[in-house]
Amino acid sequence: MPDKKWIPQPKRPRTPIPEQKPEERRRNFKEVALGYTAELAIQEAYRCLQCKNPLCVEGCPVGIDIPGFIRHIGEGRFEEAYYTLKKYNFLPAICGRVCPQESQCEKFCIMGKRFKPVAIGRLERFAADYFMESGKKEDFKIDPPSGKKVAIIGSGPAGLTCAGELAKKGHKVTIFEALHKPGGVLVYGIPEFRLPKRIVDIEVENLKKMGVEIKTSAIIGKLYTIDELLEEEGFDAVFIGTGAGLPYFMGIPGENLNGVYSANEFLTRVNLMRAYMFPEADTPVKIGEKVAVVGCGNTALDAARTALRLGAKETHIVYRRSKGEIPAREEEVQHAIEEGVQFNLLTNPIEIIGDENGWVKALKCIRTRCGEPDESGRRRPIPIEGSEFEFPVDTVIMAIGQGPNPLIQETQPDIEVKRWGIIKIDEEGRTSKKGVFAGGDIVTGGATVILAMGQGKKAAQAIDEYLKTGKWA
Ligand SMILES: Cc1cc2nc3c(=O)[nH]c(=O)nc-3n(C[C@H](O)[C@H](O)[C@H](O)COP(=O)(O)OP(=O)(O)OC[C@H]3O[C@@H](n4cnc5c(N)ncnc54)[C@H](O)[C@@H]3O)c2cc1C
Ligand code: SF4
Repeated sequence: MPDKKWIPQPKRPRTPIPEQKPEERRRNFKEVALGYTAELAIQEAYRCLQCKNPLCVEGCPVGIDIPGFIRHIGEGRFEEAYYTLKKYNFLPAICGRVCPQESQCEKFCIMGKRFKPVAIGRLERFAADYFMESGKKEDFKIDPPSGKKVAIIGSGPAGLTCAGELAKKGHKVTIFEALHKPGGVLVYGIPEFRLPKRIVDIEVENLKKMGVEIKTSAIIGKLYTIDELLEEEGFDAVFIGTGAGLPYFMGIPGENLNGVYSANEFLTRVNLMRAYMFPEADTPVKIGEKVAVVGCGNTALDAARTALRLGAKETHIVYRRSKGEIPAREEEVQHAIEEGVQFNLLTNPIEIIGDENGWVKALKCIRTRCGEPDESGRRRPIPIEGSEFEFPVDTVIMAIGQGPNPLIQETQPDIEVKRWGIIKIDEEGRTSKKGVFAGGDIVTGGATVILAMGQGKKAAQAIDEYLKTGKWA
C-alpha cells in the first residue's frame, strides 16, 4: 500500500478490540480477544501523534520504536511494522497479548493525558499476527558460525530470547527444558484463552529454523550439572533461565486436604496435560462446584477463569488487600468480572476446614483493613479482630506467589544466591561462576514476560562478548 499523509486523529475514541461475548467465552477455552482487523488497526494507528520525544518508548522495558511501528501500520505497511518490532522484541505476538501495557508503554503515552492512550499492545499483536497469518517466511539474518557452543537452561521467555539473540550471532545454541514442551509459563501457566499455544509453537519453530536445538524432558541438575555441561559436554557458556516455578503456600491448617491445589499444579495439569480435553486426554482434574482462589495476581485470575471454564458453578477470588492493590492486569480483572468471577477483597484465609473424609468443606477467613504501606509499597492488610467467618467451598487453589526452582542452586553450590534462592547477577547478567549467566524470574522472583525477555537479551550480549574476548569482567 502506498504511503499516506499522516494526519493524526487524536479525538477519535480508542478503537475497541472485538472479543468473544462473556456468556459464551466463560465456558470455552478459545481466545477471548479476537484481534484488530487491518481497518481497525489503521484506524487506531491514526490516533498516534508521532511524538518527537515519545514517552511511550521510555515506558517499554525493551525500548521498541513504538511510533515507528505504529506509523508503518497507519501507512498499511504491515510487514515493515513487524520487522520494526522484531528488531527490539523477539516475541511480539506474545507480548502484544500478555504484557501489562497499562503500567508500561501505554501508561506514558501522551494521549493518555487528555484521552485514552493509544492501544500500543493491540497494535503490536496485530502486526505480529498479520505476519504470521500471511504465510511469509521470516527473514533470519544469521552471522557465520562462530564455533562456540552455548547451553540455555529453561525455555521460558528469558531462555527463548537469549537463544534467539545468540543464534543470530552464529553461536551453536542448545536449550535444555525440564518439561516435555518448550515455552515455560507461556505454555504451562498462561491459559489458552489468553495466549494460544499455537502462537508460542510458531516462535519455538522459528528458533529451530535459526539452528537452535531444543532438548525437552532434560532436567539440568539431574541429566548434567553445569560443571558437566562446561567441562564434559563442550559448552563454552551457560545461561540459566529456570524461572520461578516453586509455588508458595500460606502455612495455614488444612492445606494438605483433598481439593487443595497450588495454582501452578492446577494450571499445568489443565494447560500442558490437556485436562480440559478429558476424556480425550486421560488427565482429569477434579473441580468442585464452588471454588476459592487465594490471591489476586495474573496467576490467580488465570486459575479462577480456568475453573469456571471447567464447569465450576461459582468461582471466588479471596484477596487480603483492596482494589487499588490488585497486582493482576486491569484488562484481565475486567474480563474476569464480566465472566462472573466473584471478588472477595479485604479477606484473608486462616484455615481450610475438611469433612470426615479429608475433603475440603469450607474456608475460614478473617476480614482485613489496609494499613500503612509495607516493603512491597502496597498497603499492609491488618486483620479485624472478631470478624472471622466460614465460607463453604469444595476446592481451594493457592495462588499467592512462586519462588525460584531450586535444583540448579542445590547441585551447583559455587553459584552465589541471595535470599529465597534467587541467583545473584551483575548488571550484564553474569553470575559468580565464570562462563555462567542468568536472567528472568530466577533472578527477579515472579515478574513479567517482557522483563524476563529484556534480561535474556542483555545476557546474550554479555555472553557474545565473553565468547569473543574470553574476558570475565
Ligand atoms: C499463571 C501465570 C500467568 C502469568 N501471566 C502473565 C501476564 O499476563 N503477563 C506477564 O507479563 N507475565 C505473566 N506471568 C509472569 C511471566 O510468565 C513470568 O515472569 C515469565 O514467564 C518468566 O520467564 P522465565 O523465562 O524467567 O521463566 P519461565 O517462564 O518460568 O520458564 C522457565 C523454564 O525453565 C524450566 N526449568 C526449570 N528448572 C529447570 C532445570 N533444572 N532444567 C531444565 N529446565 C528447567 C521450566 O520447566 C520452565 O519451562 C504469569 C505467570 C504465571 C505463573
Ligand atoms: S506517546 Fe503515544 S502518541 Fe506519542 S508516539 Fe507514543 S504512542 Fe504515539
